[in-house]
This record gives sequence, structure tokens and C-alpha cells, in this order.
Amino acid sequence: MTEHEDPSLDRLKQHFAQRVIHQARQILEVWQRLQRNEWNERGMHELRNATLLLQRYAERFEQAEHRQLAQDIGHCLQAVADNRGRLNSDLIGQLNQLMQRLSRTGLRRGDSFEQTALPPLRKPVYLALQHPERAEHLAQQLEYFGMTAQALDTANAFRSAMLERHPAAILMDVDFSGPGAGLQLVQTVQEDLEEKIPLLFYSHLDTDMPARLAAVRAGGQEFFTGTLDASSLLERIEVLAHVAQYEPYKVLIVDDSRAQATYTERALNSAGILTRTLIEPIQTMAELAEFQPDLIILDMYMPDCNGAELAKVIRHNDRYVSVPIIYLSAEDDLDKQLDAMSEGGDDFLTKPIKPRHLIATVRNRAARARNLKARMVRDSLTGLYNHTHTLQLLEDTRFRAQRDQQPLSFAMLDIDFFKKVNDNYGHPMGDRVIKSLALFLKQRLRKSDHIGRYGGEEFAVVMPNTDARAAQLVLDEIRQRFAEIIYPAQPLDLTCTFSCGLAQLRGEASSQTLTQQADEALYVAKHGGRNRVEVFNAD
Ligand code: GH3
Ligand code: MG
Ligand code: MG
Repeated sequence: MTEHEDPSLDRLKQHFAQRVIHQARQILEVWQRLQRNEWNERGMHELRNATLLLQRYAERFEQAEHRQLAQDIGHCLQAVADNRGRLNSDLIGQLNQLMQRLSRTGLRRGDSFEQTALPPLRKPVYLALQHPERAEHLAQQLEYFGMTAQALDTANAFRSAMLERHPAAILMDVDFSGPGAGLQLVQTVQEDLEEKIPLLFYSHLDTDMPARLAAVRAGGQEFFTGTLDASSLLERIEVLAHVAQYEPYKVLIVDDSRAQATYTERALNSAGILTRTLIEPIQTMAELAEFQPDLIILDMYMPDCNGAELAKVIRHNDRYVSVPIIYLSAEDDLDKQLDAMSEGGDDFLTKPIKPRHLIATVRNRAARARNLKARMVRDSLTGLYNHTHTLQLLEDTRFRAQRDQQPLSFAMLDIDFFKKVNDNYGHPMGDRVIKSLALFLKQRLRKSDHIGRYGGEEFAVVMPNTDARAAQLVLDEIRQRFAEIIYPAQPLDLTCTFSCGLAQLRGEASSQTLTQQADEALYVAKHGGRNRVEVFNAD
């Protein structure tokens, strides 16, 4: 697109493009829902229709990438239908890959369209507050974080917005449109919904018990009082609305009986769980490294080596100490089961097992394992990767970048004069700012970027497939936006800035060189007056 083009045409194109993106998100939502529940006819039907619609829009509005994706998804769904509606691991894998790509197809900055490279599920949040200015202000602040919010000023506006589109969450003032009226309004609206919308209440007064009780009864999952700040609100919404992208669970099945393995695979696939099967246990270690399963199902008795022995071997490797192992066997002798469990198994299921039981066990175990793993690699205050894991990710990414000859940038961020925040506003406010920058980065960077909390008020970002110039543009935009966030405080509201140093991987340089260079650039940014982004310069 050139600068000479008619600006109104540009706007029109942008408008149509938004419609395509909106439809893409519909698909992602159905997909996420299917992952949480079981796959069924109705869900498949919905997915097929949403895909057809996307294809139509994308054709009409000339969005080639979306059209291609819609077509590919359509083919996959057709393959499922041809397979008598049955999913298999290949199809789940293919669909998942397409969905991941779909979730990344925002419009890019360079298209001169609004930036929309956001995670999926970008439904708006509805803000219904007693004071319209306050709602507008909050909406604006949420926008800085990349979340769409709509301020509504009357009960009717709220009702018609609800009819038009369901939001990701509702923030309702208990006294919206009259004392106590907000509670009632939202309750009547929720009653008619099959799937409840995450609901947060607000009262500008520190409310008493009866009001809070009423809020709980009206389905409220959170109650805010006093000053509302965008980042606390966003943090709760993220949790309540499951904004995080859902990845299918991966299960490795080791069973010498092809028939039993197929039975297990089918059951798990029908619930959208990815599987791989090994008939020969000897290949297990190679397969583990390749497939990285969330959970392993082992047959108890196999000719070459039995399940308990295999479990021992797996557990000898540090990387797999916490991957759950479930034994599957006809063995119903309790003593033998206990022996097997003591060899590092987590559960014992007896054949024949009902698919429902199998699915539930696998899901629960896998979910807990993921949760545990997340706690090992993540920082507890911000949910970002911790220092060690960030460096590990940098190392993995560096290896791949050099192998594939792709650019890679690494950035270090440090909040300016942060000590003053602690000194003047207290440590909790300092924490608030750290959390909000973390959230801000998560919202604004791509899903493929790795974001870590490097130290106290320092952050690091690993940006694959990104050269220094592109990284600088993105981070500078973030820098400017972050400076606009206002933290409500007494006696004066607070704003913060950060400085950033970044470096691009050159030749065969090591990760260590890259971090040193970014650090040097950060030093230059600090000494050049702070609140700026500097790129490492070899001279
Ligand atoms: P500069 O612009 O040069 O970066 O100045 P600064 O004050 O930000 O830098 P300095 O490194 O001297 O101070 C960082 C402060 O951050 C010191 C430490 O008390 C505080 N800090 C580190 N971790 C945390 C945390 O988790 N929470 C809070 N509230 N403060 C923290
Ligand atoms: Mg520091
Ligand atoms: Mg600092």
C-alpha cells in the first residue's frame, strides 16, 4: 500500500480486514471450547460453519493468508468427517498447527492497519460503571495493555451490547444505573445465558458483608473496591476468561499389543488428546526427547522389558522426573500394583478401562503436571519465565537461529528510577508496577517471543526471527505506551518508564556474547538519559 492511496479506501479495507479477523477469532473460540470438553457432533458442526464463513469473508475481502488457512482447516474437517467423524492424532496435530497459525495472523504494523497481532479471544470487556468518565478512562488504560474494553453508560446500552456480542468479561458497578441496580441488571442478563460470562463487581465504597454476599449470589467472581487500576483488573480477567492459548495434551503410549494401543489412542483422540504409540519399548527414550509428552501410559507386561523397568529407566533422566506415568494392565493383584507404583509410576489403571475413566485420569494428571512444570520455570510474582529458564530458552533459540540462518534479537529492559517508586510509594506499589510491566509485555509482544523476569525490576525478551531494527520498532512502541500508564496513588498518581538495550545475534556468536551486548546497550540507554531503546553497536 502506498501513501498516495485514498485514505478513505484505506479505512474501508481496514474495516473489512477487521471482519475477517473477527471471524478467525470465532473459530479459535470454538476450537478452545472443544479442547476443554469432548468433541461432539455439535461442536464439529459449529467449527465447520465458522470455517466456511471465514473462507467466504477472506475471499470477498481479499485476505489471502486467511483464505488459505480457512481452506486448510476445511480440508482437515472434511478428513474427520470422511473418517466417520473420528479424530486421530494426525488430524488433531494438523488442526492444532493450523489454529496456532490462525491465532498469529494478525495484521502487521507494516500493513498500515491497526496492530492486531494479539493472542486469540480478544473479545472486549464491558465496563458498566456509575461514573462514565471513570469507565472511559479505564477503557483507555486497558487499551494500552492491548485489551479491548467498551465503556457503557446506561442499562439499555449494556443490554443492547450484550445482545450484539458477548464480552470476555463484565465489570459491573453494584450501583450502576441506580443504587443496587447493577447487581440486578447483570443477574437478569446472566440468567438467560447457557455459558456464564466471567463477572467482576465494583463498588467505589468499601462495602459491607450483605453487598458482597449479594454479589456472590449474582455470580460475581471478584469484588473490587476503591480505586481501580487497569493492571489488577486485567490480571483477574486473564485468569477468569482463560485467555491463555490451549495446547492439546500429548500422551505417549508404550504397549506391545497393537490392539490395546489402538483402543487407548482412539479413546484419547476422541477427547482431542494427541497420542503417539510405541510397540517396542526400546525406542522410548528417543521418542520422549522428540515428542515431549505431557504424560506416559505404559503397558505393565511386555516381552523385552516390563513397565516398571521402563519407568525406572525414564526416571533416571532428570528431564523426565516429573512426567506422570500411568500403568495400564490386566493385573488386578493389589500387591503387584503397589510394587509397580513404587518404581516411579503415578497411577494404575486396570484393563478393560472405560474411555471416560481413561480420559478423565489422563486429563487430571496432565493438567497437574503442566501446572507443576509451569511453577518450576516461572517467576511467581509475574508469571514470566524465571532467569534460568529465560537463558535456557535463549540458548535453544540461538541454536535454531544459527542452524536455520534466521535473525534473532535479545532485549534487556530495566525500569527507570525504580528505587524511588519503592521509597515514595512503598514496596507493594513497586510490585504492582513490576507486575503491570510484565502483563504489558505479554499483551504486546508476539506469542513466539519469550519473556522473562531477569531480576528484580529487569526483564529480558528473546525474539526469534526478528532483526534488531524490527525489535527496536516494537520495543520503542511499547516503551512509549508503557509511559502512558497511570497508577492511581496518593498524593500524586504515578507513571513509570523503562530503558532497553538490545542486540542481534551475529555469525557464530554465543548466547553469552548476546546477553553482554544487550547489557552494554542498556548501559548506554541509562546513561543517555533513560526512557529509551538502544541497539548494541560494535564500534
Ligand atoms: P535505574 O534507573 O538506574 O535503573 O535506577 P533504579 O532505581 O531503577 O535502579 P536500582 O537497580 O538501583 O534499584 C532497583 C530497585 O528495585 C532496588 C530494589 O529494592 C528494587 N526491587 C528489586 N526487586 C523488587 C521487587 O520484587 N519488588 C519491589 N517492590 N522492588 C524491587
Ligand atoms: Mg536494575
Ligand atoms: Mg532500574
